[in-house]
Amino acid sequence: MCKTCTPSASISQQSQPTPQQRIERNAKRSKKFSSARAKNLRYYIDVNNYTNAIGEDDSVRPYLESYRKRLITCASNSLYRKVNGGRECSLITGLVCNHRLCTVCNMLRSRKLRKKWGKFLQDDTPDVPVRKTQAHFFGADYGDMKEREIPDSERVFVSGAQLLQMFDLMHLTLTVPHEGGKWNGKEYYAEELLKKFNIMRKAEWWTDNIFGGEYTVETTYSEENGLHIHIHALLFVDKNLRRSRNYLHHMIAARWNALTINADNSESVEITPDGSIKKKHVVLDAERMEGAKKSFAYLLKEYGEDYYNNFLLDLDGRGSTMTGLKNLYYEVPAAEAGNYKNYFTEHGKTFVYCRRPRPGDAPTSILKGVMECLKYHFEPCAMEKDGEIDMPLVAKVLPNIYRQRLYGKFGGFYGVTALNVLEEPLSEKDLLEETADNASEAFDPRTGLEIDKTEYMYCIADASAISYDADKPICYINEAKIKKRISPHDAGSIGHAVKALVYYGYGIET
Ligand SMILES: [Zn+2]
Repeated sequence: MCKTCTPSASISQQSQPTPQQRIERNAKRSKKFSSARAKNLRYYIDVNNYTNAIGEDDSVRPYLESYRKRLITCASNSLYRKVNGGRECSLITGLVCNHRLCTVCNMLRSRKLRKKWGKFLQDDTPDVPVRKTQAHFFGADYGDMKEREIPDSERVFVSGAQLLQMFDLMHLTLTVPHEGGKWNGKEYYAEELLKKFNIMRKAEWWTDNIFGGEYTVETTYSEENGLHIHIHALLFVDKNLRRSRNYLHHMIAARWNALTINADNSESVEITPDGSIKKKHVVLDAERMEGAKKSFAYLLKEYGEDYYNNFLLDLDGRGSTMTGLKNLYYEVPAAEAGNYKNYFTEHGKTFVYCRRPRPGDAPTSILKGVMECLKYHFEPCAMEKDGEIDMPLVAKVLPNIYRQRLYGKFGGFYGVTALNVLEEPLSEKDLLEETADNASEAFDPRTGLEIDKTEYMYCIADASAISYDADKPICYINEAKIKKRISPHDAGSIGHAVKALVYYGYGIET
Protein backbone atom coordinates (compact mmCIF):
# COMPACT_ATOMS: atom_id res chain seq x y z
CA MET A 1 0.00 0.00 0.00
CA CYS A 2 1.26 3.45 -0.82
CA LYS A 3 2.09 5.19 2.39
CA THR A 4 1.11 8.65 1.29
CA CYS A 5 -2.05 8.12 -0.76
CA THR A 6 -4.56 7.46 2.04
CA PRO A 7 -5.77 10.78 3.38
CA SER A 8 -6.21 11.32 7.09
CA ALA A 9 -9.85 11.30 8.10
CA SER A 10 -10.22 11.53 11.85
CA ILE A 11 -8.62 14.94 12.35
CA SER A 12 -10.30 16.77 9.49
CA GLN A 13 -13.68 15.36 10.46
CA GLN A 14 -13.55 16.97 13.87
CA SER A 15 -16.06 19.82 14.17
CA GLN A 16 -14.72 23.34 13.81
CA PRO A 17 -14.68 25.42 17.00
CA THR A 18 -17.22 28.23 17.30
CA PRO A 19 -15.99 31.87 17.39
CA GLN A 20 -16.68 31.95 21.14
CA GLN A 21 -14.57 28.80 21.66
CA ARG A 22 -11.78 30.32 19.60
CA ILE A 23 -11.83 33.50 21.69
CA GLU A 24 -11.79 31.51 24.93
CA ARG A 25 -8.98 29.26 23.73
CA ASN A 26 -6.90 32.24 22.65
CA ALA A 27 -7.45 33.99 25.98
CA LYS A 28 -6.37 30.86 27.85
CA ARG A 29 -3.22 30.49 25.77
CA SER A 30 -2.44 34.16 25.99
CA LYS A 31 -2.77 34.01 29.77
CA LYS A 32 -0.36 31.05 30.01
CA PHE A 33 2.05 32.77 27.63
CA SER A 34 2.04 35.92 29.77
CA SER A 35 2.45 34.03 33.05
CA ALA A 36 5.41 32.12 31.61
CA ARG A 37 6.87 35.49 30.60
CA ALA A 38 6.23 36.82 34.12
CA LYS A 39 8.00 33.79 35.61
CA ASN A 40 11.01 34.43 33.36
CA LEU A 41 11.13 38.01 34.67
CA ARG A 42 11.10 36.77 38.26
CA TYR A 43 13.89 34.32 37.44
CA TYR A 44 15.83 37.13 35.78
CA ILE A 45 16.18 39.01 39.07
CA ASP A 46 17.64 35.98 40.86
CA VAL A 47 19.89 34.96 37.97
CA ASN A 48 21.13 38.54 37.70
CA ASN A 49 21.88 38.79 41.44
CA TYR A 50 23.64 35.42 41.43
CA THR A 51 25.70 36.35 38.34
CA ASN A 52 26.76 39.66 39.86
CA ALA A 53 27.81 37.93 43.07
CA ILE A 54 30.16 35.35 41.52
CA GLY A 55 33.71 36.11 40.40
CA GLU A 56 34.49 37.60 36.98
CA ASP A 57 36.47 34.51 36.00
CA ASP A 58 34.01 31.91 37.32
CA SER A 59 33.61 29.33 34.53
CA VAL A 60 29.82 29.32 34.80
CA ARG A 61 29.58 33.09 34.27
CA PRO A 62 29.25 33.12 30.43
CA TYR A 63 26.37 30.61 30.67
CA LEU A 64 24.59 32.68 33.30
CA GLU A 65 25.09 35.89 31.31
CA SER A 66 23.62 34.30 28.23
CA TYR A 67 20.75 32.85 30.27
CA ARG A 68 19.79 36.17 31.88
CA LYS A 69 19.84 37.86 28.49
CA ARG A 70 17.44 35.26 27.07
CA LEU A 71 15.19 35.47 30.13
CA ILE A 72 14.74 39.22 29.70
CA THR A 73 14.22 39.04 25.91
CA CYS A 74 11.97 35.99 25.37
CA ALA A 75 8.37 37.12 24.56
CA SER A 76 9.28 40.76 25.25
CA ASN A 77 8.23 41.46 21.67
CA SER A 78 4.88 39.84 21.04
CA LEU A 79 2.19 40.54 18.50
CA TYR A 80 -1.41 41.20 19.53
CA ARG A 81 -4.52 42.18 17.67
CA LYS A 82 -6.36 44.96 19.49
CA VAL A 83 -9.92 46.08 18.79
CA ASN A 84 -10.32 49.75 17.87
CA GLY A 85 -11.87 51.82 20.64
CA GLY A 86 -11.07 49.24 23.33
CA ARG A 87 -8.19 47.51 25.13
CA GLU A 88 -9.39 43.97 24.35
CA CYS A 89 -6.81 41.97 22.40
CA SER A 90 -5.87 38.51 21.19
CA LEU A 91 -2.46 36.89 21.01
CA ILE A 92 -1.01 36.30 17.54
CA THR A 93 2.60 35.31 18.21
CA GLY A 94 5.82 36.33 19.93
CA LEU A 95 9.57 36.19 19.43
CA VAL A 96 11.09 33.46 21.60
CA CYS A 97 14.62 32.69 22.77
CA ASN A 98 15.07 28.90 22.42
CA HIS A 99 16.96 28.55 25.71
CA ARG A 100 16.80 25.13 27.38
CA LEU A 101 15.77 26.59 30.73
CA CYS A 102 13.31 29.19 29.45
CA THR A 103 9.80 28.90 30.91
CA VAL A 104 8.12 30.26 27.78
CA CYS A 105 10.06 28.07 25.37
CA ASN A 106 9.63 24.90 27.42
CA MET A 107 5.89 25.50 27.59
CA LEU A 108 5.84 25.79 23.79
CA ARG A 109 8.02 22.70 23.31
CA SER A 110 5.84 20.63 25.60
CA ARG A 111 2.69 21.74 23.76
CA LYS A 112 4.26 21.10 20.39
CA LEU A 113 5.21 17.60 21.49
CA ARG A 114 1.73 16.80 22.84
CA LYS A 115 0.07 18.26 19.78
CA LYS A 116 2.21 16.14 17.46
CA TRP A 117 1.64 12.91 19.40
CA GLY A 118 -2.06 13.65 19.82
CA LYS A 119 -2.45 14.23 16.10
CA PHE A 120 -0.31 11.23 15.17
CA LEU A 121 -2.15 8.81 17.48
CA GLN A 122 -5.52 9.83 16.02
CA ASP A 123 -4.39 9.84 12.42
CA ASP A 124 -5.57 7.12 10.05
CA THR A 125 -2.74 7.47 7.53
CA PRO A 126 -0.93 4.12 7.40
CA ASP A 127 2.70 5.20 7.26
CA VAL A 128 4.50 3.36 10.06
CA PRO A 129 6.23 0.16 8.93
CA VAL A 130 5.40 -3.02 10.86
CA ARG A 131 6.20 -6.62 10.05
CA LYS A 132 3.35 -8.31 8.22
CA THR A 133 3.64 -11.54 10.18
CA GLN A 134 3.63 -9.69 13.47
CA ALA A 135 1.37 -6.76 12.78
CA HIS A 136 0.72 -6.38 16.49
CA PHE A 137 4.38 -5.64 17.15
CA PHE A 138 7.73 -6.19 15.53
CA GLY A 139 10.40 -8.27 17.10
CA ALA A 140 13.65 -6.86 15.75
CA ASP A 141 16.00 -4.13 16.81
CA TYR A 142 14.68 -1.02 15.13
CA GLY A 143 16.93 1.29 17.11
CA ASP A 144 18.51 2.09 13.79
CA MET A 145 15.74 1.95 11.22
CA LYS A 146 17.83 3.35 8.40
CA GLU A 147 20.18 0.39 8.38
CA ARG A 148 17.71 -2.29 9.27
CA GLU A 149 14.64 -1.71 7.19
CA ILE A 150 12.08 -4.47 6.99
CA PRO A 151 12.18 -6.14 3.56
CA ASP A 152 9.27 -5.02 1.31
CA SER A 153 7.78 -8.50 1.21
CA GLU A 154 7.51 -8.67 5.02
CA ARG A 155 6.27 -5.15 5.63
CA VAL A 156 2.87 -3.53 6.10
CA PHE A 157 2.11 0.05 7.05
CA VAL A 158 -0.14 0.89 9.97
CA SER A 159 -1.45 4.24 11.19
CA GLY A 160 -0.83 6.04 14.46
CA ALA A 161 -4.46 5.40 15.44
CA GLN A 162 -3.89 1.66 14.90
CA LEU A 163 -0.66 1.72 16.92
CA LEU A 164 -2.60 3.20 19.82
CA GLN A 165 -4.92 0.19 19.72
CA MET A 166 -2.19 -2.36 19.08
CA PHE A 167 -0.06 -1.79 22.19
CA ASP A 168 -0.20 -1.45 25.96
CA LEU A 169 1.19 1.93 27.00
CA MET A 170 3.54 2.23 29.95
CA HIS A 171 5.56 4.89 31.69
CA LEU A 172 9.11 3.96 32.70
CA THR A 173 11.33 5.80 35.20
CA LEU A 174 15.04 4.94 35.42
CA THR A 175 17.33 6.26 38.13
CA VAL A 176 20.92 5.54 39.22
CA PRO A 177 22.52 5.48 42.68
CA HIS A 178 24.51 8.67 43.20
CA GLU A 179 25.54 8.71 46.84
CA GLY A 180 27.95 11.58 47.46
CA GLY A 181 26.59 13.37 44.38
CA LYS A 182 28.46 11.29 41.79
CA TRP A 183 27.81 8.30 39.55
CA ASN A 184 30.86 6.62 38.04
CA GLY A 185 33.00 9.64 38.87
CA LYS A 186 30.72 12.20 37.26
CA GLU A 187 28.51 14.86 38.73
CA TYR A 188 26.54 15.37 35.50
CA TYR A 189 26.00 12.01 33.83
CA ALA A 190 23.09 12.45 31.37
CA GLU A 191 25.12 11.29 28.38
CA GLU A 192 26.42 8.16 30.16
CA LEU A 193 22.91 7.45 31.43
CA LEU A 194 21.48 7.57 27.90
CA LYS A 195 24.24 5.25 26.66
CA LYS A 196 23.19 2.65 29.25
CA PHE A 197 19.55 3.08 28.25
CA ASN A 198 20.58 2.50 24.65
CA ILE A 199 22.39 -0.73 25.59
CA MET A 200 19.35 -1.96 27.48
CA ARG A 201 17.14 -1.42 24.45
CA LYS A 202 19.26 -3.82 22.42
CA ALA A 203 18.35 -6.83 24.60
CA GLU A 204 16.21 -9.44 22.88
CA TRP A 205 13.53 -9.46 25.58
CA TRP A 206 13.23 -5.70 25.03
CA THR A 207 12.99 -5.68 21.23
CA ASP A 208 10.73 -8.75 21.28
CA ASN A 209 8.18 -7.02 23.49
CA ILE A 210 8.57 -3.28 23.09
CA PHE A 211 7.70 -1.70 19.75
CA GLY A 212 9.25 1.66 20.57
CA GLY A 213 8.67 4.87 22.48
CA GLU A 214 10.16 8.20 23.46
CA TYR A 215 12.18 9.50 26.43
CA THR A 216 13.39 12.58 28.22
CA VAL A 217 16.15 13.25 30.77
CA GLU A 218 15.27 15.23 33.88
CA THR A 219 17.44 16.62 36.67
CA THR A 220 16.63 17.50 40.24
CA TYR A 221 19.02 18.53 42.99
CA SER A 222 19.45 18.07 46.71
CA GLU A 223 22.30 19.37 48.83
CA GLU A 224 22.71 15.93 50.36
CA ASN A 225 22.98 13.84 47.18
CA GLY A 226 23.75 16.40 44.47
CA LEU A 227 22.24 16.15 41.01
CA HIS A 228 19.61 13.46 40.54
CA ILE A 229 19.51 12.74 36.81
CA HIS A 230 16.89 10.29 35.60
CA ILE A 231 15.01 9.10 32.53
CA HIS A 232 11.26 9.16 31.89
CA ALA A 233 10.08 7.09 28.93
CA LEU A 234 6.82 6.21 27.23
CA LEU A 235 6.76 2.59 26.03
CA PHE A 236 4.51 0.84 23.49
CA VAL A 237 4.40 -2.76 24.72
CA ASP A 238 3.19 -5.88 22.94
CA LYS A 239 -0.33 -6.69 24.08
CA ASN A 240 0.19 -10.41 23.66
CA LEU A 241 2.72 -10.44 26.46
CA ARG A 242 1.10 -12.06 29.44
CA ARG A 243 1.21 -9.89 32.59
CA SER A 244 3.37 -7.58 30.58
CA ARG A 245 3.96 -4.96 33.25
CA ASN A 246 5.29 -7.42 35.82
CA TYR A 247 7.37 -9.33 33.30
CA LEU A 248 8.96 -6.20 31.87
CA HIS A 249 9.41 -4.55 35.25
CA HIS A 250 11.61 -7.29 36.64
CA MET A 251 13.52 -7.76 33.35
CA ILE A 252 14.24 -4.03 33.16
CA ALA A 253 15.07 -3.82 36.89
CA ALA A 254 17.61 -6.69 36.69
CA ARG A 255 19.30 -5.37 33.55
CA TRP A 256 19.30 -1.75 34.75
CA ASN A 257 20.77 -2.84 38.08
CA ALA A 258 23.68 -4.53 36.29
CA LEU A 259 24.14 -1.66 33.82
CA THR A 260 24.21 1.07 36.46
CA ILE A 261 26.78 -0.39 38.86
CA ASN A 262 28.84 2.43 40.24
CA ALA A 263 32.40 1.41 39.34
CA ASP A 264 33.82 3.93 41.81
CA ASN A 265 32.96 1.62 44.61
CA SER A 266 36.21 0.03 45.82
CA GLU A 267 34.21 -2.82 47.33
CA SER A 268 33.65 -4.10 43.84
CA VAL A 269 36.81 -6.23 43.70
CA GLU A 270 38.61 -8.54 46.07
CA ILE A 271 42.00 -10.21 45.86
CA THR A 272 41.73 -13.99 46.13
CA PRO A 273 44.39 -15.99 48.08
CA ASP A 274 46.15 -16.94 44.82
CA GLY A 275 46.56 -13.23 44.00
CA SER A 276 44.00 -12.98 41.21
CA ILE A 277 41.32 -10.28 41.27
CA LYS A 278 37.77 -11.46 41.69
CA LYS A 279 34.62 -9.38 41.44
CA LYS A 280 33.00 -9.26 44.79
CA HIS A 281 29.28 -9.62 44.95
CA VAL A 282 27.83 -6.67 46.78
CA VAL A 283 24.39 -7.48 48.13
CA LEU A 284 21.79 -4.89 48.97
CA ASP A 285 21.85 -3.40 52.43
CA ALA A 286 18.96 -4.27 54.74
CA GLU A 287 16.92 -1.16 53.93
CA ARG A 288 17.14 -1.53 50.16
CA MET A 289 16.50 -5.27 50.43
CA GLU A 290 13.24 -4.51 52.25
CA GLY A 291 12.29 -2.09 49.49
CA ALA A 292 13.16 -4.61 46.78
CA LYS A 293 11.19 -7.36 48.53
CA LYS A 294 8.05 -5.23 48.41
CA SER A 295 8.62 -3.98 44.91
CA PHE A 296 9.16 -7.47 43.44
CA ALA A 297 6.69 -9.38 45.64
CA TYR A 298 4.71 -10.35 42.52
CA LEU A 299 7.59 -12.63 41.44
CA LEU A 300 6.88 -14.93 44.37
CA LYS A 301 3.35 -15.52 43.15
CA GLU A 302 4.09 -15.66 39.46
CA TYR A 303 7.46 -17.44 39.30
CA GLY A 304 7.85 -19.21 42.65
CA GLU A 305 10.05 -18.87 45.70
CA ASP A 306 13.39 -19.96 44.16
CA TYR A 307 13.09 -17.52 41.29
CA TYR A 308 12.11 -14.72 43.68
CA ASN A 309 14.97 -15.39 46.11
CA ASN A 310 17.57 -15.71 43.37
CA PHE A 311 16.33 -12.54 41.74
CA LEU A 312 16.77 -10.58 44.98
CA LEU A 313 20.19 -12.09 45.66
CA ASP A 314 21.37 -11.20 42.17
CA LEU A 315 20.65 -7.51 42.66
CA ASP A 316 23.95 -5.71 43.13
CA GLY A 317 24.11 -3.14 45.92
CA ARG A 318 26.16 -0.79 43.75
CA GLY A 319 23.53 -0.59 41.00
CA SER A 320 20.07 0.93 40.76
CA THR A 321 17.13 -0.85 42.37
CA MET A 322 14.64 1.95 41.83
CA THR A 323 12.89 1.23 38.55
CA GLY A 324 9.35 2.46 38.00
CA LEU A 325 7.05 0.94 35.40
CA LYS A 326 3.36 1.85 35.32
CA ASN A 327 0.52 1.23 32.92
CA LEU A 328 -0.93 4.49 31.69
CA TYR A 329 -4.45 5.11 32.84
CA TYR A 330 -7.66 4.65 30.89
CA GLU A 331 -10.80 6.71 30.76
CA VAL A 332 -13.83 4.60 31.78
CA PRO A 333 -17.56 5.30 32.18
CA ALA A 334 -18.19 6.79 35.63
CA ALA A 335 -20.60 3.94 36.47
CA GLU A 336 -17.74 1.43 36.03
CA ALA A 337 -15.32 3.26 38.31
CA GLY A 338 -16.36 1.38 41.46
CA ASN A 339 -15.14 -1.88 39.91
CA TYR A 340 -11.58 -0.68 40.25
CA LYS A 341 -9.39 -0.14 43.25
CA ASN A 342 -7.43 2.75 41.79
CA TYR A 343 -9.64 5.25 40.07
CA PHE A 344 -9.82 9.01 40.07
CA THR A 345 -12.03 11.71 38.62
CA GLU A 346 -10.80 14.79 36.81
CA HIS A 347 -12.73 17.43 34.83
CA GLY A 348 -15.89 15.36 35.22
CA LYS A 349 -14.24 12.30 33.68
CA THR A 350 -13.28 9.06 35.39
CA PHE A 351 -9.99 7.29 34.90
CA VAL A 352 -8.55 4.01 36.16
CA TYR A 353 -4.92 3.04 36.51
CA CYS A 354 -3.48 -0.25 35.35
CA ARG A 355 -6.38 -1.60 33.36
CA ARG A 356 -5.80 -3.34 30.04
CA PRO A 357 -7.73 -1.84 27.11
CA ARG A 358 -10.89 -3.65 26.03
CA PRO A 359 -12.55 -4.08 22.65
CA GLY A 360 -15.37 -1.65 23.54
CA ASP A 361 -13.06 1.20 24.64
CA ALA A 362 -13.18 4.47 22.78
CA PRO A 363 -10.02 4.62 20.64
CA THR A 364 -8.93 7.77 22.42
CA SER A 365 -9.63 6.68 26.01
CA ILE A 366 -5.90 6.22 26.64
CA LEU A 367 -4.89 9.53 25.01
CA LYS A 368 -5.35 11.52 28.21
CA GLY A 369 -2.77 9.27 29.86
CA VAL A 370 -0.35 9.81 26.98
CA MET A 371 -0.78 13.58 27.15
CA GLU A 372 -0.18 13.58 30.91
CA CYS A 373 2.95 11.48 30.43
CA LEU A 374 4.33 13.91 27.83
CA LYS A 375 3.38 17.05 29.73
CA TYR A 376 6.55 17.35 31.77
CA HIS A 377 8.94 16.31 29.02
CA PHE A 378 10.44 19.72 28.53
CA GLU A 379 11.31 20.58 32.05
CA PRO A 380 14.95 19.51 31.89
CA CYS A 381 15.41 20.36 35.53
CA ALA A 382 13.12 21.07 38.44
CA MET A 383 13.75 24.78 38.35
CA GLU A 384 12.09 25.75 41.58
CA LYS A 385 12.56 24.97 45.21
CA ASP A 386 10.02 26.33 47.68
CA GLY A 387 8.60 28.62 44.99
CA GLU A 388 11.96 30.26 44.17
CA ILE A 389 14.38 29.52 41.34
CA ASP A 390 16.94 26.96 42.55
CA MET A 391 20.14 28.84 41.67
CA PRO A 392 22.67 26.21 42.84
CA LEU A 393 20.94 23.68 40.56
CA VAL A 394 20.75 26.09 37.62
CA ALA A 395 24.43 27.01 37.98
CA LYS A 396 25.38 23.32 37.97
CA VAL A 397 23.10 22.29 35.12
CA LEU A 398 23.63 25.21 32.70
CA PRO A 399 27.16 24.42 31.47
CA ASN A 400 26.30 20.73 31.21
CA ILE A 401 23.06 20.77 29.22
CA TYR A 402 24.50 23.04 26.58
CA ARG A 403 24.01 21.17 23.27
CA GLN A 404 23.25 17.96 25.15
CA ARG A 405 20.55 15.69 23.73
CA LEU A 406 17.91 15.29 26.42
CA TYR A 407 14.98 14.06 24.38
CA GLY A 408 14.55 11.31 21.80
CA LYS A 409 12.44 8.57 20.19
CA PHE A 410 13.42 4.94 19.75
CA GLY A 411 12.44 1.64 18.14
CA GLY A 412 9.53 1.81 15.72
CA PHE A 413 9.16 5.57 16.27
CA TYR A 414 12.76 6.37 15.37
CA GLY A 415 11.99 7.17 11.74
CA VAL A 416 8.55 8.73 12.27
CA THR A 417 9.21 12.29 11.13
CA ALA A 418 5.67 13.46 12.06
CA LEU A 419 6.82 13.19 15.68
CA ASN A 420 10.06 15.16 15.31
CA VAL A 421 9.98 18.11 17.67
CA LEU A 422 13.51 19.39 18.11
CA GLU A 423 14.85 19.27 14.55
CA GLU A 424 14.14 22.97 14.15
CA PRO A 425 14.45 25.61 16.86
CA LEU A 426 11.22 27.20 18.03
CA SER A 427 10.17 30.21 16.06
CA GLU A 428 7.27 32.67 15.93
CA LYS A 429 5.67 30.19 13.50
CA ASP A 430 5.16 27.66 16.30
CA LEU A 431 3.13 30.07 18.36
CA LEU A 432 1.33 31.32 15.27
CA GLU A 433 0.30 27.75 14.52
CA GLU A 434 -0.97 27.36 18.05
CA THR A 435 -2.97 30.54 17.93
CA ALA A 436 -4.05 29.95 14.32
CA ASP A 437 -7.65 29.80 15.51
CA ASN A 438 -7.66 33.55 15.94
CA ALA A 439 -4.89 34.40 13.52
CA SER A 440 -6.59 33.96 10.17
CA GLU A 441 -9.93 35.45 11.17
CA ALA A 442 -10.39 38.33 13.58
CA PHE A 443 -13.02 38.35 16.31
CA ASP A 444 -14.12 40.99 18.76
CA PRO A 445 -13.68 39.41 22.22
CA ARG A 446 -16.46 41.70 23.54
CA THR A 447 -19.15 40.54 21.14
CA GLY A 448 -17.81 37.25 19.76
CA LEU A 449 -18.44 38.57 16.23
CA GLU A 450 -16.05 38.51 13.31
CA ILE A 451 -14.50 41.90 12.57
CA ASP A 452 -12.69 43.33 9.54
CA LYS A 453 -9.56 45.43 9.02
CA THR A 454 -11.32 48.70 9.86
CA GLU A 455 -12.14 47.48 13.35
CA TYR A 456 -8.74 46.36 14.71
CA MET A 457 -5.00 47.00 14.58
CA TYR A 458 -1.86 45.02 15.32
CA CYS A 459 0.35 46.00 18.27
CA ILE A 460 3.75 44.88 19.47
CA ALA A 461 3.97 44.67 23.25
CA ASP A 462 5.72 42.77 26.01
CA ALA A 463 3.67 39.67 26.91
CA SER A 464 3.89 40.86 30.52
CA ALA A 465 1.92 44.01 29.57
CA ILE A 466 -1.27 42.00 29.08
CA SER A 467 -3.86 41.69 31.85
CA TYR A 468 -6.78 39.33 32.26
CA ASP A 469 -10.30 39.34 33.49
CA ALA A 470 -10.80 36.72 36.18
CA ASP A 471 -14.41 36.02 35.16
CA LYS A 472 -14.37 36.54 31.41
CA PRO A 473 -12.03 34.96 28.83
CA ILE A 474 -10.71 38.34 27.76
CA CYS A 475 -7.15 39.77 27.57
CA TYR A 476 -6.46 43.47 27.85
CA ILE A 477 -3.44 45.32 26.54
CA ASN A 478 -1.92 48.19 28.52
CA GLU A 479 -2.08 51.09 26.04
CA ALA A 480 0.85 52.89 27.67
CA LYS A 481 3.08 49.87 27.11
CA ILE A 482 2.41 49.33 23.42
CA LYS A 483 5.82 49.51 21.71
CA LYS A 484 4.64 49.75 18.13
CA ARG A 485 1.31 49.94 16.33
CA ILE A 486 0.96 48.33 12.92
CA SER A 487 -2.11 49.30 10.98
CA PRO A 488 -3.74 46.29 9.30
CA HIS A 489 -3.86 48.40 6.13
CA ASP A 490 -0.06 48.68 6.17
CA ALA A 491 0.31 45.08 7.25
CA GLY A 492 -2.04 43.82 4.56
CA SER A 493 -2.17 40.32 5.97
CA ILE A 494 -1.26 38.50 9.14
CA GLY A 495 1.97 37.40 7.42
CA HIS A 496 3.06 41.00 7.00
CA ALA A 497 2.26 41.78 10.62
CA VAL A 498 4.46 38.86 11.70
CA LYS A 499 7.22 40.09 9.40
CA ALA A 500 6.95 43.54 10.98
CA LEU A 501 7.30 41.91 14.41
CA VAL A 502 10.43 40.05 13.31
CA TYR A 503 11.98 43.24 11.89
CA TYR A 504 11.09 45.18 15.03
CA GLY A 505 12.37 42.41 17.30
CA TYR A 506 15.76 42.38 15.64
CA GLY A 507 16.06 46.14 15.79
CA ILE A 508 15.22 46.93 12.18
CA GLU A 509 12.40 49.48 12.07
CA THR A 510 9.96 49.10 9.20
ZN1 LIG B 1 12.42 31.46 25.58
